[in-house]
Amino acid sequence: MALTKLTFDNRFINTLPSDKQEENNQRQVHHAAFSLVSPTKVSNPQLIAVSEDLALMLGFTKEDIKSEQFSQTFSGNTLMDGMQSYAMCYGGHQFGHWAGQLGDGRAINLGEVVTNNNGHQTLQLKGAGPTPYSRTADGLAVLRSSIREFLCSEAMFHLGISTTRALSLSLTGEQVMRDMFYDGHNKNEPGAVVCRVSKSFMRFGSFQLPAQRGDIELLKAMAEHSISSDFPHLLGDTKVFNKQVYLNWFSAICQSTCEMIVNWQRVGFVHGVMNTDNMSILGETIDYGPYGWIDNFDLNWTPNTTDANGKRYRFGAQAEIGQWNLFQLANAIFPLISDAKPLEELLNGYARKYQTLWHEMMLSKIGLRKSELSNKSNGSSPDADDEKLLLELEEILSLIDTDMTIFYRQLAKLPMISASAKQEQWMAIFADCYYQIEQANEQYRQKMSDWLTCYINRFEQDEITFQQHVLLMNQTNPKYVLRNYLAQQAIELAEQGDFTEITRLQALLKYPYQEQIGFEQYANKRPSWAENKAGCSMLSCSS
Ligand code: AMP
Ligand code: MG
Repeated sequence: MALTKLTFDNRFINTLPSDKQEENNQRQVHHAAFSLVSPTKVSNPQLIAVSEDLALMLGFTKEDIKSEQFSQTFSGNTLMDGMQSYAMCYGGHQFGHWAGQLGDGRAINLGEVVTNNNGHQTLQLKGAGPTPYSRTADGLAVLRSSIREFLCSEAMFHLGISTTRALSLSLTGEQVMRDMFYDGHNKNEPGAVVCRVSKSFMRFGSFQLPAQRGDIELLKAMAEHSISSDFPHLLGDTKVFNKQVYLNWFSAICQSTCEMIVNWQRVGFVHGVMNTDNMSILGETIDYGPYGWIDNFDLNWTPNTTDANGKRYRFGAQAEIGQWNLFQLANAIFPLISDAKPLEELLNGYARKYQTLWHEMMLSKIGLRKSELSNKSNGSSPDADDEKLLLELEEILSLIDTDMTIFYRQLAKLPMISASAKQEQWMAIFADCYYQIEQANEQYRQKMSDWLTCYINRFEQDEITFQQHVLLMNQTNPKYVLRNYLAQQAIELAEQGDFTEITRLQALLKYPYQEQIGFEQYANKRPSWAENKAGCSMLSCSS
């Protein structure tokens, strides 16, 4: 049975210059945005998970998903009519250092589907074999990292956070050799391919590479392509690319990057490798590698063992790193603008915007509305008082091991009357969120009681009703997130051929803010066996 015919309009390769060489060998590619390359055929494709709603959005039917053709296509064995496969050329800063050409070393784009209601959507296989950008690596991906990418990108989408999506997860039938912790312990692991979907896979590094090479013609072509395809509203009727259009484009990128990172902080997501080649020009969460979710609230935590010393990409540094990355992008597009001042202003604007959005987001987490009162009698501004309240809370959460996700859901259960600030009352409500209850010493208890007293006073001044307060919190604070140990359990079962846990997590994480009967244990805090276990608290870039 043939798949439903989709319409492809491959704008990226039809508009931008192609690599002239046709062989698929590793090389430096100049004056080109991509190289045409075919996915490597695999011996025994097996589709093990699919996002049905995404498949339908793209124009497939439920029958398509079940067909042999679907699994052949999304493991890289066949191309549909209209597909034309290619790998993109880009560079990037890795861990603060310019790394030169990187590119799609193991991602192969299949083309751009024209959808009914969601514009052009690019399909991209991750783990489909070597490309000219593979450098010394094999272009493949293993099952564990593919499960993590598949589940997490879909979980992020359902949390309402801007992200690339995942259509399918397939086993290839091949074995792939990996040294998980780069310590000489090579192991064969099952090979897998994920099909990712986004309007655009252009990264900050897509503009950095031509800029670094002084290839202004290519830089300009890339920027024009990005704007015409994904920011067409920035172009007036005249369709002229002038300084103001480029600045508005950069401003939009600052805005979406800022919103994305505020959302990461809201749910406790740590990307782990915020290199500039992993920053989407659309402000989408992209490249799910050694990411992790905060269990106990800790601004210094990073899941990435490669970054264990410097902790450059720790939870509490993500906003700052976002700005550092935007600064690199500003440098790259400078030749199109030739004026540093407005770029600097936009970068400063990012920092101010982040502060405002973070403040609003945190107030929502504790179920309060932004203060409308102008000035209080003591002269301090209500915003400054709120800021103090929010920062104090983060400080208290850091004092002892407190589960972030559970804490905020439990906070919504506090009756919000002055008696709730008494130890015996709040302790009963928060008991579940502590990893070691004995850490809650007298000093801690006093701090928490004092904070709750201020919080309840502030709530009483807010015009919000108790019901609205609870609703706001439960819409802001997810009950279920893809805790690192949950993903790891699904991985260990899948490695033994049991894929049911993947399907269960996928279904659960579609409704992360809702209580789900029978799934309560998925909201439990990290069990002690997972505290220092590989895959649960420690991850590497090896995938
Ligand atoms: P990442 O840290 O995953 O963003 O990867 C950095 C660069 O290395 C990108 O250009 C990737 O495409 C490339 N890369 C990562 N893993 C592989 C692999 N197994 N084979 C080929 N290229 C890879
Ligand atoms: Mg990457």
